[in-house]
Amino acid sequence: MASRENTKEHLPRDDARKQMRAFFFETQKSTLNKCLAPGGVCTARAIKAHFVQNGRVMELLAENGHVKGVRGIVKKDRSTRIEGPILEFADIGRNEASTFEGFCGRHDAEIFKKLDSSPLDRSNEEQLYLLAYRSISHTIHALMSSGMRSQRGYQERIRVGWDSGNEPEPAGEMALHFLMQGYELWTYREPLSEGLLRSDFQMLHHRVLTLEHNAPSFAASACFNYRLNVRQEADSYMAINVFPISETESLAILSYIPEDSKNADVFLSPILEANGDYQKYLLSKLVLAHCQNFYISPRLFNTWPTNKVNEILSFFNQTLLKDAALDNEHLFLFA
Ligand SMILES: [Zn+2]
Repeated sequence: MASRENTKEHLPRDDARKQMRAFFFETQKSTLNKCLAPGGVCTARAIKAHFVQNGRVMELLAENGHVKGVRGIVKKDRSTRIEGPILEFADIGRNEASTFEGFCGRHDAEIFKKLDSSPLDRSNEEQLYLLAYRSISHTIHALMSSGMRSQRGYQERIRVGWDSGNEPEPAGEMALHFLMQGYELWTYREPLSEGLLRSDFQMLHHRVLTLEHNAPSFAASACFNYRLNVRQEADSYMAINVFPISETESLAILSYIPEDSKNADVFLSPILEANGDYQKYLLSKLVLAHCQNFYISPRLFNTWPTNKVNEILSFFNQTLLKDAALDNEHLFLFA
């Protein structure tokens, strides 16, 4: 994958670090600009398509046009004093939080018309299908974009002399990992795209939970893979959407293909069997472990003490690469 041309002198340490820092900022916002419509042949430019069901969700969550989300920034680590990318909560514009550049204007309007033109009806098979389909597409887009940024980052590391490009190196492996995951999810989505084209909405099963709360708390959307144990040969996938529908209620919608039903039942049983705050706690952990994109109401966020914020970021960071089974009261995300 890497450029083999590696005859340059290594840059002095500080110069190399400065260049990598500039590179990080320059590429952080770059994303895959391709329409992910079924078939993969649309060449029109992708636009900022809406992925949260409609403006109502953001109306419930945002304050002064912003929500709180996790972002990577470059900062000096307080204990090691080494400068590098770290995660923190930042103000995110409501429009940025509820869109992604995954479809061209025509396909976004055509495919998701039934989802966006009326409030979500939890018994409407087509709306639930579209909601999951959009989460899956969003995750493909996020994985491909991460892969692309990582690959460019790897090339830059080779350029400044940190990596050779001639052997397996972590930065290169990471890029490959994201791209492979994006490709696998695209393959998983293929039959669902065909189902969409022939309006066969039985190709996804859904579990819909209604959660009561004191105030709108957060919205999350993703598609993740999991294995119940080491004996499971291939990954199962699950799409997840959580969002407020009123001041006092949120919906959590978990969607999967019929072939994964048995695994999904086992995977979800602790959440489905729980109720009240414990159910919301387990769901919060599921979101933190598997959703790269989740957005919190600033009104709720501002009530959280610093140690809670730090525990959430730390759990989120650990589970980016592996599952964490840790129990921690601070991971509760509801008001
Ligand atoms: Zn298109």
